[in-house]
Amino acid sequence: LQPALHALVQGVAGGGLRFAVTLDRILSSTALPPPPGGVSPPRAVAAQADPARARLRGVTFRYGPQARPVLDDFDLTLSDGTHLAVVGPSGAGKSTLAALLAGLLQPQAGTVRLGGVPVDGDPAVLAGHRVLIPQEAYVFTGTLLDNLRYLCPDADEHRVAAAVERLGLGPLAYRLGGLAATLEPGALSAGERQLVAAVRAYLSPAPLAILDEATCHLDPTAEATVELAFAARPGCLVVVAHRISSALRARQVLILADGRPMLGRHEELLARSATYRELVGHWRGEPATAQPARPLPLGG
Ligand code: ATP
Repeated sequence: LQPALHALVQGVAGGGLRFAVTLDRILSSTALPPPPGGVSPPRAVAAQADPARARLRGVTFRYGPQARPVLDDFDLTLSDGTHLAVVGPSGAGKSTLAALLAGLLQPQAGTVRLGGVPVDGDPAVLAGHRVLIPQEAYVFTGTLLDNLRYLCPDADEHRVAAAVERLGLGPLAYRLGGLAATLEPGALSAGERQLVAAVRAYLSPAPLAILDEATCHLDPTAEATVELAFAARPGCLVVVAHRISSALRARQVLILADGRPMLGRHEELLARSATYRELVGHWRGEPATAQPARPLPLGG
């Protein structure tokens, strides 16, 4: 089984997003040790060729030759200190953007570079630039400490303990009996697994952190704690937002809707984007504005 899993993990780099998510599910539900492959400890980032942490230029991505582009000639630059929330209706392309940024998907046109390095290169180098936390958190049978410092094996216990406290994993760590306690993935709730994955990513040396609905199983307070901790971490942060409150915390918001991405601060988007106003209104409990109904094409 192990070689098959390794092949699966390596396949993630060239495979689709749903494949990656499926893999995470497979890994989080098995009691196997961590695979050396897509989630191997990152190599230290060499001197940066580009001051931007991430640069997307003219990126076009579609899931198949006949499919509509999810992103079309799309540009984005992320520098240190960026805290970006990505919002938009379901299916707008938020997770696709996260996967492109992480190098899990390759665009059909345009380039994605992290610190000047193309994302289709050596996975270990890529892992030194970015850490992606997907919705389905990966936890393996082993000690809590091993789980937490998997992306940063050199982290000493004091540093790990500080991260545990900072991100709100303290109560679980105490309940389990400390960092040396053995974790059984099946014995953790979805939110607890997300917290473990968040602390692991927080400790990673990768300067670009991408949270793809990585806190959706946490309550709003716990979610805020995690996001604010990442926002204060050196480097930059991209949050695919599960709740609009994530956009209120971010310095910048990117709304993906109807193939017309718009970047700005919360107040700017409130003024400029009807879809953003709609999302915020919905979050505040305001009634939705009636959309003109489009007839559903029927077969036959
Ligand atoms: P949600 O908020 O529901 O998670 P999203 O904004 O993250 O949605 P994506 O998952 O990026 O949206 O999907 C963007 C578009 O691409 C959708 O129309 C979706 O159906 C399509 N899509 C996503 N993954 C695949 C895939 N593996 N194969 C084909 N189409 C896909």
